[in-house]
Amino acid sequence: MTEAELRDLLVERSASLYQRGFSVGSAGNISAAVEDGFLITPTNSSLGFLDPQRISKLDRNFKHIAGDPPSKEVFLHRAFYETVARAGAVVHLHSTYATALSCLEGIDRDDAVPPLTPYVVMRVGQVKLIPYVRPGDPRMGDMIRALGGKYTAVLLANHGPVVAGPDLLSAIYAAEELEETAKLVVTLADRHSRLLTREQIDELVAVFRK
Ligand code: ZN
Repeated sequence: MTEAELRDLLVERSASLYQRGFSVGSAGNISAAVEDGFLITPTNSSLGFLDPQRISKLDRNFKHIAGDPPSKEVFLHRAFYETVARAGAVVHLHSTYATALSCLEGIDRDDAVPPLTPYVVMRVGQVKLIPYVRPGDPRMGDMIRALGGKYTAVLLANHGPVVAGPDLLSAIYAAEELEETAKLVVTLADRHSRLLTREQIDELVAVFRK
């Protein structure tokens, strides 16, 4: 895919996320790797109304080289690119149910999204809960970096999810799957749900997440 095609895809899919309520206002930011650096949605931009020519471009050292100034949460993206070997895109949303889950007391910090369906295991894997710090605090990036690339998705406590994938569409699909699973978790909150067993998870990981 050329950079121009990737810019168009980023605009189209961001608008789709916005139209379906995965982001509101100027919340959320999305980045994707290109041959000589990274594209990322600009600061204060709305995912619903991006202009392909104004998307921020960063060099490989994350220095802003073209387009509008980048999202202030760029360090979240950088932490994933620098630690997850196969990261080709990163999606950060404040989507409702994943954010609701990030506000709940008593969730498993090492496995914040329970394995309710095979799809969350296949597309997202285990999700780490990152303790709350104020938006823009660079310690958030440090805490993601400290995971050493073991997780491709995290939930920022009282804030929202950050999901990495090998390419733009995979990262977006994983963020959507995480949101849908969080919706199931919240829907089933007061009921006793059957989770996938360790054996069933291992089988999915062996077949789909090699
Ligand atoms: Zn955010």
